Amino acid sequence: MKTNIYGLLLEEMEELIVSIGIEKYRTKQIVEWLYQRDVDSFMEMTNLPLAKRSLLANAFEIQKVSLKRQLNSKDGKTIKYLLGFSDGEAVETVLMRQPYGNSVCVSSQVGCGMGCVFCASTLNGLVRNLSAGEMLSQVLFINQILKQEGKAVNNIVIMGSGEPLANYDNVIKFIRLCHEAYCLNLSYRNVTLSTSGIVPVIDKLSNEGLPITLSISLHAPDNSIRSSIMPINIHYKIEEIIAAADRYTKNTGRRVTYEYTLIAGINDDTEHAKQLVKLLKGKIINVNLIPVNDVIERGLHRPKQDKIKNFESVLRLNHINVTVRKEMGADIQAACGQLRNESLNK
Ligand code: SAH
Repeated sequence: MKTNIYGLLLEEMEELIVSIGIEKYRTKQIVEWLYQRDVDSFMEMTNLPLAKRSLLANAFEIQKVSLKRQLNSKDGKTIKYLLGFSDGEAVETVLMRQPYGNSVCVSSQVGCGMGCVFCASTLNGLVRNLSAGEMLSQVLFINQILKQEGKAVNNIVIMGSGEPLANYDNVIKFIRLCHEAYCLNLSYRNVTLSTSGIVPVIDKLSNEGLPITLSISLHAPDNSIRSSIMPINIHYKIEEIIAAADRYTKNTGRRVTYEYTLIAGINDDTEHAKQLVKLLKGKIINVNLIPVNDVIERGLHRPKQDKIKNFESVLRLNHINVTVRKEMGADIQAACGQLRNESLNK
């Protein structure tokens, strides 16, 4: 098996190329071909002697993703891609053109093992983790498209399929790669990781020294509702998650965002909003309300508009910083996993 050259940090690449007889200084040339010029093969690296190019081709692969399907939203701002890997698996990656820049929503696993009832990614369970290189190649694919318009990827949200904190080492390496100047040169502040709340791993992340933005999928104001829609809550209770989030803010100086998916009849009442206020009042946090994208398989629906407005105003009246997620791409099945499932079902 050849090593996927995407997903190697500079030091690792240096060590590996030296071990196959290529001078260390050539790493800089190689990464330029890979990340600035987007070559498909080592043979295109024309400032390297032919013999060295062959050595590279024998040891490594440039594993780009292949485009399997694409859905464009009507307003043209959101594009969802189904991207395939060399073993035939595929994940969804989304480009969102926003006023503040181009964001890419990256998947961290094929499928997901968390079992949240509202999420389409988990319907068939976890298939496998993605490597750092496979996460990076999703972003590079989109960056290449943006480059043709003179643009680039500005923000990364690790909010696609999968639980990133269940694939910790690969995700951290991916984030570091995005930050490297020779790669995407992204500020850590422009990277958001969303988790269902695996408390010990949130603490590990707090001590990693990466000031990324942490988003926590809370989705319920009490443990009984949360456990009924998110099985992970059986292991880590709401109070423990909020305490871990507070430690994250203390350690990194970064404000945490709580995501709250509003599902009709389940967690969208005034009472629920008041309970949520009790949990979060006085904390320096954001709440992002997400009207659920209907998951037909599970009979879950978004609340009526007045319910959403009411929930939002209860939080606002209590001085909680709240936004309602703009519905980008609802018309293209933007909820995690919906496109892949449709493709699997065919
Ligand atoms: N496992 C991580 C990241 C992937 S899910 C996590 O749980 O945060 C990313 C976000 O999409 C989560 O907040 C999740 O709750 C939300 N989501 C999943 N299915 C959804 C749906 N049908 N409608 C709206 N949001 C959904």
